[in-house]
Amino acid sequence: MPSLQRLLAMRAELPHALLLFGPSGIGKSALAMRLANALLCELPGPDGDACGRCPACGWFGQGSHPDFRRLVPGGDDDEAREKASLEIKIGQVRALGDFLSVGGHRGGRKIVVVDPADALNVPAANALLKTLEEPTGETVFLLVSGRHDALPATIRSRCVGFPLTLPARDEAHRWLQASTGAGPEEADAWLAAAGGAPLRAATLAEPAQAAAYRLIVKTVAQIPDNSSIQAAEALATVPARAWLPLLQAWVTDLGRVVAGAAPRRFPEQRDRLARLAQSTALPRVAKFAEWLMQQTAAVDHPLNPRLFCEDALLRYRALFG
Ligand SMILES: [Zn+2]
Repeated sequence: MPSLQRLLAMRAELPHALLLFGPSGIGKSALAMRLANALLCELPGPDGDACGRCPACGWFGQGSHPDFRRLVPGGDDDEAREKASLEIKIGQVRALGDFLSVGGHRGGRKIVVVDPADALNVPAANALLKTLEEPTGETVFLLVSGRHDALPATIRSRCVGFPLTLPARDEAHRWLQASTGAGPEEADAWLAAAGGAPLRAATLAEPAQAAAYRLIVKTVAQIPDNSSIQAAEALATVPARAWLPLLQAWVTDLGRVVAGAAPRRFPEQRDRLARLAQSTALPRVAKFAEWLMQQTAAVDHPLNPRLFCEDALLRYRALFG
């Protein structure tokens, strides 16, 4: 993991706030946690990585290190997260107060991971900004974001940015095969479906996800031959946050094929896309893609998931003929 090595090399003069940003599904969260663990480890190896055996590593592994905090949407309360609180709220930032004002329990650094930082709502971002503006020597903030453009410029300007990129295709391919047991062709398909992001590909390759993925692709690919109502019945069995990104990817590929390019995410559906491309036009596809984009904000709280699904598929169907 070259990114981790580069971060560990900064260990001695790590900035007060680091913003780890890059596309989703590449392992930013895991990297932030690994770095936090390494920074808290009391017997780090020569490369700066965590030893995995000292008391600090033990507490970190159990989620109970006294000098570590993690701000995530909905906090650590699983029930609250179930209720789809998708924001990091001001109370969570304020709750850091005592943690920040006293010295580290172990005499070393204190670490706060904010993941994803783009989930901070406006009051929470303002509260965090105050903290970032008055650095307390030994605290390091690790902000994680897949949409760092959505962060307030004031927050970004207080952080040192650390860009993370998609891994090389061969590397991702090897990793995906090793970690999921997928064969080379299967790994190809999952990586293509995940836009090259290996962690997202691994999630798709999980059996339940894979079944949902196949259902979505099959359902969408059959439109307009089957009715969009039937399709909505099938699709509404999975959450909008699962089918909407795939429909978006499908429509992007359709747009590519209409424009004479090869599909990128669904190469195995090339023939189907080519047939569909003959009965639509680029401006129609582009307009629908834009509409889909506007729906992503509401995807976790559609007022009526079934109606939302039907509406989206009716609009999709209207692209043809
Ligand atoms: Zn350790």
